[in-house]
Amino acid sequence: MINIVFLGPPGAGKGTQSNKIEHEFNIVQISTGDILRNAVKTGSELGKLAKKYMDEGKLVPDDVIIGIVKARLQQDDCKNGFILDGFPRTIAQAEALDDMLKNDLNIELTHIIALEVPDELILERLTGRRSCSKCGAAYHLKYNPPKVDNICDICGSNLVQRDDDKEETINKRLKVYHEQTEQLKTYYSNSGKYYEIDGTKHPDEVYEKIKSILTK
Ligand code: ADP
Ligand code: AMP
Repeated sequence: MINIVFLGPPGAGKGTQSNKIEHEFNIVQISTGDILRNAVKTGSELGKLAKKYMDEGKLVPDDVIIGIVKARLQQDDCKNGFILDGFPRTIAQAEALDDMLKNDLNIELTHIIALEVPDELILERLTGRRSCSKCGAAYHLKYNPPKVDNICDICGSNLVQRDDDKEETINKRLKVYHEQTEQLKTYYSNSGKYYEIDGTKHPDEVYEKIKSILTK
């Protein structure tokens, strides 16, 4: 069983790589960002609460996110393995994850993969990002354009730009990453399951590296 945590700044390629792994290894991708964006779309109480933080590039409070992940990991489709994309993002979240894996689920993480991309590349990646409004597939206007302008290759739906992918919010999100999330690399570095990967290479090359780690 493969249970992965993806670390890396916003725009590192976590979603792009998770999608590839999900299909080839038949395990589920759990993106806390996607869960929150769906909640915003449906106008639920969670969505109303989360939107305030997301629009400002801030983290949603730990107790809210931990509750979401705890419930999600208990669903049946996680039994074959999972990829956590965008969680944990704080030490408190990482500790809560350790606790739920050990005490509620009796399973362990198998790989913690940190995608390394310097800040200078992030702005261009995120301002050019487009995502499918239906299936969530990620594109880039320059680096990974859809075959037909603005249409998802996979499901044919329209592509949209995320509200938080504007320059001002991207800079705030990067700051939050360096202040609160980057330290998780140290948290996991002695686990014996921690891998750093150069995320600046072509997505296919990045994927080959990840695959070699997962199949080793
Ligand atoms: P994250 O999930 O880490 O926020 P994404 O996977 O959404 O990042 O990628 C951010 C943007 O960068 C997307 O537009 C994506 O198409 C593009 N991208 C992802 N990986 C690469 C790469 N290796 N090289 C160039 N662009 C990439
Ligand atoms: P992402 O799609 O991972 O880039 O996340 C988008 C936004 O959702 C972030 O900027 C946060 O506001 C919120 N978010 C996603 N995951 C978390 C998390 N683990 N902890 C706190 N906030 C989160």
